[in-house]
Amino acid sequence: MKIYEYPPEKLVGKRFECSCGYTHYSTVKGISVCDGAINELPETVKAIGTDTVFIVADENTFAAAGNTAVTLLEKAGIKCKVCLIKADNGFDRPEPTEKALGNIVMSYDASCGAVIGVGGGVVNDLCKLLSNTARIPYIYVPTCASMDGYTSDSASVIYNGVKTSVKCKCPDYLICDTDIISKAPKKLLLAGIGDMCAKTVSICEWRISNLITGEHYCDDVAEIMRRCFKAATDNAETAIGGDKNAVKEIVYGLITVGMAMTYAKSSRPASGVEHYYSHLWDMRCLEENRQCELHGIQVGVGTCLTLKKYEKLKKTTPDKEKALLSINSFDKQAWERGVRKYFGSSAESIIALEDKEGKYDKQKCASRLDIIVDKWDEILKIIEQELIPYGKLEALFKKIGHPTTPGEIGESDESAAKAFLHTSDIRDKYILSRLLYDTGETEPGDQ
Ligand SMILES: [Zn+2]
Ligand SMILES: [Zn+2]
Repeated sequence: MKIYEYPPEKLVGKRFECSCGYTHYSTVKGISVCDGAINELPETVKAIGTDTVFIVADENTFAAAGNTAVTLLEKAGIKCKVCLIKADNGFDRPEPTEKALGNIVMSYDASCGAVIGVGGGVVNDLCKLLSNTARIPYIYVPTCASMDGYTSDSASVIYNGVKTSVKCKCPDYLICDTDIISKAPKKLLLAGIGDMCAKTVSICEWRISNLITGEHYCDDVAEIMRRCFKAATDNAETAIGGDKNAVKEIVYGLITVGMAMTYAKSSRPASGVEHYYSHLWDMRCLEENRQCELHGIQVGVGTCLTLKKYEKLKKTTPDKEKALLSINSFDKQAWERGVRKYFGSSAESIIALEDKEGKYDKQKCASRLDIIVDKWDEILKIIEQELIPYGKLEALFKKIGHPTTPGEIGESDESAAKAFLHTSDIRDKYILSRLLYDTGETEPGDQ
């Protein structure tokens, strides 16, 4: 039995005893991807054994598919309690905050025997958390192909002002109606493609981290991601052109990536430094009370910026003396001042995190530096093997209309440079900014 089963429906219920030491499995019980899949909803609810469901959607997704879901369910004698989430402060889209989750929890009716999320990533993340807390089954009906969290067992939320990934549960059933998904606004599909294109970086950084920090790595899971990345780049143009089969291939990729994150027991296979750009832009937007760009588009731009930085890195060789000087000059108080200035209301959480994780611990940085110097050729080889050349991705993005620069998504070069610097602060994940820090290559003016 191969871990790269295709299409992903074939992965349901499978367990893979892997040479990496993990048993890879997902608790998703059913996946359906086809035109008209939404018609399977009543049957799925009946299989769960309930006659009352809690439906979560936003205004747009309710119009796109929520309405149909309610009609189908009520026709089958299933009672529907509907909760529409709303955007704050006149924004277009709701954000996954404590407030949004609180609203859902307060509207929740305990007589419901299942949660049905109808919408994009925010609806899905909030519903995962609700079903995890209320301990009832969850059916997800995506209305677009905008992100890869369909089947993952974590929710990407803003918690205490910090964009973070909260472990919860994956949907029990996924009903992907390709007829509905292919009618979604093109920009949402662009976001899904952006999110998928990040995998070239995430796999590269996963391998580099494995080499430097000994973080668990599974090449079978990495291979799944490489295939999803290829499927996304191969089908991007035709999918954006409206080809339904190509959209389906993107949807398959998004589902598979979610499964792979569950297999790896972390978001590592799907997210590297390019995702941190997105997290930081989200946090800054919240702080400045402005609407942030779609996750996948931010990630796509983050991927472009990251690829350029790796291309620059490839031309360097670490200078141990210079690196040690830089590592030992770390000034915790100056760092805290910088964090307070950048993160505002969430700064204290970031500082508390550093106290716990010691990402800038001089001893640890120096030990990593030894390994980096020792294994530099291997690091360069990984970069060479995993990363798509920037020019190639840029050409594809330009062809399909995906932004490639911060300016196109309402950010500036300066905000991107600042975000990159602070990507080292928000989580203990070994990424490009940490590698640059350890080698004393953090650009002047960053500190
Ligand atoms: Zn494995
Ligand atoms: Zn993502």
